[in-house]
Amino acid sequence: MNSRLWLSPPHMSGHEIDFINEAFSSNWIAPIGPHISGFEADLKLYLKQNNDVVALSSGTAALHLALILLHVGPGDEVICQSKTFSASANPIVYQGATPVFVDSERDTWNMCPILLETAIKDRMSKGKTPKAIIAVHLYGMPYKVDEIQAISEHYNIPIVEDSAEALGSTYKGQHCGTFGDYGIFSFNGNKIITTSGGGALVCSSQDRKDKAIFLATQAKDQAVAYEHSQIGYNYRMSNIIAGIGRGQMLVLVDHVQKRRENFKFYKEKLSHIDGIAFLEEPESFYSNRWLTCVLLNDETEQERLRMHLEHDNIESRPLWKPMHQQTVFKDAPRYINGVSDDLFARGLCLPSGSNLTQDDLHRIVSVIINYFNKNE
Ligand SMILES: *Cc1c(COP(=O)(O)O)cnc(C)c1O
Repeated sequence: MNSRLWLSPPHMSGHEIDFINEAFSSNWIAPIGPHISGFEADLKLYLKQNNDVVALSSGTAALHLALILLHVGPGDEVICQSKTFSASANPIVYQGATPVFVDSERDTWNMCPILLETAIKDRMSKGKTPKAIIAVHLYGMPYKVDEIQAISEHYNIPIVEDSAEALGSTYKGQHCGTFGDYGIFSFNGNKIITTSGGGALVCSSQDRKDKAIFLATQAKDQAVAYEHSQIGYNYRMSNIIAGIGRGQMLVLVDHVQKRRENFKFYKEKLSHIDGIAFLEEPESFYSNRWLTCVLLNDETEQERLRMHLEHDNIESRPLWKPMHQQTVFKDAPRYINGVSDDLFARGLCLPSGSNLTQDDLHRIVSVIINYFNKNE
């Protein structure tokens, strides 16, 4: 049996263990310590926009805190991109609010600005101005930042930028994660850098950062005894985990480059095939190419190719199933144009790890070419 090729496995630099050892030798085995502020500073420097960064236990926790800081509460509505992973939408429900799903456009596969405006107007006509917009840079491809931002400003509805998959991506030269009122990153095991599990909230001011840390560390008021005037959360990143993050930051630039090379390789070797299409970068969009995804002719082809790859012990996966198709959100309002349904039916994510070797890539490509030759 050939060795298993995964979609997006962890890829350590080798330096993580030094940071972990440092945490052990200094006994900072806690959700406080120098690696946490160090990791936050590394991220802030990387993002270049002077935003403040809060290291948290997950990307989901970061989204939840963003909604709390925007005062989303019971009875509110929050607009969310339908084509995404469920973690983008779940925190809306944690707050007792209702998600309103908006479909995608074809150029980036992300939230359609035209449909977003339709949705906002329609919700307003029903007496419900949405409290926030959760827009996602899916698979690392930036959403149409200018268009979405203009709508957000026009209707005065803040943006929570789900950049979980887009660390290293840029739009007009500016880093994804720094555009929204709040931005979030994930360092889960499958992301472009991983801390095993972890996330970050990007804030536009020190004051917002202080509030986020307060909420993430059980909302203890300034007093000698523990006193509470608000509900708190246990969402802070631990110092050990932050050490892994510091080690990963040393190779983030390389990881982005390697993932982009994966995309280029697949495109060079496969784009001559009738029946495989790639998502191109529109001008001034720069994707970290977290996952390389291809579009096939139809659902049957998608499943057959997936099985063909699986037979060779190669993992691939359909694109995210849209939230408006999920049972758990069956009652949520939605504004649908058919794009995300089509992408879900025909799209397949290919192995995209930064640790894929040249041999691995050749192996995957030859299995795919073999599939199309057989079918001719
Ligand atoms: C991974 C992911 C999240 C959640 O991040 P966690 O760190 O796993 O909680 C949220 N949104 C998107 C789009 C993701 O891919």
